[in-house]
Amino acid sequence: MKQDILLCDLDAFFASVEQLDHPELQGKPVIVGGNPKARGVVSTCSYEAREYGVRSAMPMKKALELCPEAILLPVNMRRYKEVSKQVMTIFERFTPDIEPVSIDEAYLGVKKGTGVETAQQIRAAVKKELKLPISVGISVNKLLAKIASNLAKPDNIKAIWPEDVPDIIWPLPVKIIPGIGSSTEKKCYLYGIKTVGDLAKFPDKALISAFGKNGVIFKNYANGYDNRELELIHKTKSISEETTFPQDVFDREQVLTTLLALSEEVGYRLRSKRLRAKTISLKLRFADFTTISRDITLQEPTDKDLQIYHLVERLFLRHCNKPPWRLVGVRVSGLEKNQQLSLLSSAAENENKIMVVKDRLRDKYGKEVLVSAKRLLKPKE
Ligand SMILES: [Mg+2]
Repeated sequence: MKQDILLCDLDAFFASVEQLDHPELQGKPVIVGGNPKARGVVSTCSYEAREYGVRSAMPMKKALELCPEAILLPVNMRRYKEVSKQVMTIFERFTPDIEPVSIDEAYLGVKKGTGVETAQQIRAAVKKELKLPISVGISVNKLLAKIASNLAKPDNIKAIWPEDVPDIIWPLPVKIIPGIGSSTEKKCYLYGIKTVGDLAKFPDKALISAFGKNGVIFKNYANGYDNRELELIHKTKSISEETTFPQDVFDREQVLTTLLALSEEVGYRLRSKRLRAKTISLKLRFADFTTISRDITLQEPTDKDLQIYHLVERLFLRHCNKPPWRLVGVRVSGLEKNQQLSLLSSAAENENKIMVVKDRLRDKYGKEVLVSAKRLLKPKE
């Protein structure tokens, strides 16, 4: 699924939190970091201090020489973590697809075409509720979103789209490309590569002989290509779907048909969250309202509709001795992130392909577009 990617990054985070907690520090050069007498270094400095040339990771002693009137504060990590949580909670209101990068930075995936609007709303919410400055870069991938956020700073948003790459990215120094540190940068200079544009136009063969496989990756980045996916945190503990029958059901086949539909629904939700489940449970409510729940735990987690269905079918057939039934449910838990398997059997691969096609159709046309044949055999009540 194509998404817009946002990189949300708070500006001068530690210093901004200190200025928030101590309003008398607002508008003043604030440096958060180690003790200058113990060779401490600058952790974060406010934009006011940056005007004096103070930078992160600079020795405190040097920072004080540049900006003698700076206000020095020790790092209060407990407080920054607390504020960080509040910021992440705001992000969560906009999308479940969040990859935290650090205490003050996260990638967000949002619906294609809504990036700019969402970025504006996030900035407004962070400003209004937490009174903190935040910059947001918007693009189609992590690389361009990150570069955009750096260009947006301080306290603004910027979008870079693939067609902007030659104008915006190419004039920038080559070291903005991820993976190009100071030693690689020096090597680039030896080959006459100074800007991202130089790198983007450099012949493949020469790049590979100079930088090995990384050369190709660097060149892709220089052209604005980046296929790294968001590494999502997931808080989902379980996914469940259930159906209460309009009238108590005596027919086993009808229950099984419903269980298949519920399994497909649960499978779809698992895949859309890129999760797999280890425990599959069946919930069964009888006419007298007694409710039982039975489960099976797998060795290998699954996200496959039919595997889920066959397990709940087995559980149902084992416990279906007391008709009629009033409600059935399918629940999966023991969730894990979906790791791409390298050795799929061809049958599993085919099932995967079918599910991908099914999910896409469903994303496009809604959940009733594809119905398993089994579900069509019995009229739905
Ligand atoms: Mg930051």
